[in-house]
Amino acid sequence: MIRNKIVAGNWKMNKTLQEGIAFAEELNQVLCGKTKCKIIIAPPFIHLSKLSKIFDKTSISVAAQDCADKASGAYTGEVSAAMIKSTGASCVILGHSERRAYYGETSDILKEKLRLALLENLTPIFCIGETLAEREADEQFAVVEIQLKSALLGLSADDFAKIILAYEPVWAIGTGKTATPSQAEEMHAFIRSVIEKLYGNTVAGQTSILYGGSCNAKNAAELLAKPNIDGGLIGGASLKVEDFTAIINAF
Ligand code: PEP
Repeated sequence: MIRNKIVAGNWKMNKTLQEGIAFAEELNQVLCGKTKCKIIIAPPFIHLSKLSKIFDKTSISVAAQDCADKASGAYTGEVSAAMIKSTGASCVILGHSERRAYYGETSDILKEKLRLALLENLTPIFCIGETLAEREADEQFAVVEIQLKSALLGLSADDFAKIILAYEPVWAIGTGKTATPSQAEEMHAFIRSVIEKLYGNTVAGQTSILYGGSCNAKNAAELLAKPNIDGGLIGGASLKVEDFTAIINAF
């Protein structure tokens, strides 16, 4: 089954607008519109409009890092899915473990964010993953299954097929500790089996599942060579063009 190969960069709360523009111009130049995989960059909200115009659309899509769980109205500081769409961005990261841990995002909230993102034709990159304590208690499969089912259950197969999943073990994010390729592959295969039970073989076979957690130029090739790992969601190593393109080249 052919699946989209994707390398996505999550800048988190990094880069001024000027630094973002310099990155975009450099990445365009390095890639020259030629990549075998889909590239997605998630800058901070306030850079979306400008950078959507600069990144080369033939090879690079732009994502927001979050969206509101409300469509519009008196929610000071929030940014809606429709606003994101209006900037030219086409994707949105939802359920990142930092949002879950620091901003109290529950599955109910994420369910609503997903609904609103899909309504605006944004591609959600939906993040799931266990904490270190959960892995040490051997609960990782149960935790990931609950995260998947509680936010995604109820979506039609058509809507589910629009989603990109990212398995990001919380203990590997920004820690320099990477899941081994076999640990990651084991979880990706498990996630695909859960999708198969929920949505059938075709949808499961077409869903891109990215790995995230201290993925870098050194470990990318081995991780991305695994059959159920369809790409990476990259944090720290997406901040420099050289590091990021080394991961793209690992494909
Ligand atoms: C992330 O936050 O999605 C991530 C994978 O971060 P890092 O690559 O820095 O571990």
